[in-house]
Amino acid sequence: MLTVNAYAAPSATEPLVPTTIERRDVGPSDVLIAIRYAGICHSDIHTVRGEWGPIQYPQVVGHEIGGEVVEIGSAVTRHAVGDRVGVGCMVNSCRECENCRAGMENYCLKGNTGTYASVDRDGTITQGGYSTHVVVDEDFVLRLPEAIPYEAAAPLLCAGITTYSPLAHWNAGPGTRVAVVGMGGLGHMAVKIAAAMGAEVTVLSRTLDKREDALAFGAADHFATSDDATFDALANRFDLIVNTVSAPLPLDRYLSLLRLDGTMVNVGAPPEPLPVTVFTLFGNRRSFAGSSIGSIAETQEMLDFCAEHGIAPETELIAAEGINEAYERVLSSDVRYRFVIDTTTL
Ligand SMILES: [Zn+2]
Ligand SMILES: [Zn+2]
Repeated sequence: MLTVNAYAAPSATEPLVPTTIERRDVGPSDVLIAIRYAGICHSDIHTVRGEWGPIQYPQVVGHEIGGEVVEIGSAVTRHAVGDRVGVGCMVNSCRECENCRAGMENYCLKGNTGTYASVDRDGTITQGGYSTHVVVDEDFVLRLPEAIPYEAAAPLLCAGITTYSPLAHWNAGPGTRVAVVGMGGLGHMAVKIAAAMGAEVTVLSRTLDKREDALAFGAADHFATSDDATFDALANRFDLIVNTVSAPLPLDRYLSLLRLDGTMVNVGAPPEPLPVTVFTLFGNRRSFAGSSIGSIAETQEMLDFCAEHGIAPETELIAAEGINEAYERVLSSDVRYRFVIDTTTL
């Protein structure tokens, strides 16, 4: 066992505090990663505050991890000491179910093993990336292209793949019109990736505060959803709407913006059920869908795509002692666009 520095939530209601945790011995198929940067995802906050269900404390979160391989197990073939690597939202899956065999371990029918707050194979609870080191099975470790620095790689491992996967699945590209709802950590990546895929991108957010950024990231236009005229102006317009907002939205209004065979896909995760009127789906044969991160192969594809197209998240680097303040700023949407923790400060 390796004792390493980390930042953990002691309970659902207290601030995160510095601590130490144990990492398991490096098994035959494991790699030990010295973490350099870890992104802060809204899911981290939902999780430590128990908003997605009860968890065990203390809990270390963080599933946007960039670092260097410092030790490998005897059977490891995919990675070597010194490699630049990343870890995203999952660290294992059953590998036997229909979805795992199809290379879609993010949809493992037995539930993939989350990078944090999940029951690991040895029965312990997984602890995430706000830490100096992590031990991960080699099959769930991504290669970072040289063109992507560690701090930029971290947010790609959740925000990047969560938006890339639905954009790729629903064929965003030349000739398609894509709307991105909400321009936070996920939304700003969705805009950059969809634009790089060749789609015509429109940002829909409450106000026009981020309009300049949206256009700089590749959006063709930006509309305020606080303005009722927006929903008339954009009716029947989009092939794909990627909803990154984690709060409830009036779904029927957004679905009415889809053209024939259009799809609205949710990647934001509001905890409460959302009502939808089926008649809105009848019109234009619309679909309402969900999408959950991406497979390991697709995550590698996303990293290579971002390297090739020079895409990186907008980040604000913080020291570990700034994590609690950063949480408050994420909750008030006061970050452009992703906090990344320098783990040497842990
Ligand atoms: Zn995340
Ligand atoms: Zn499975």
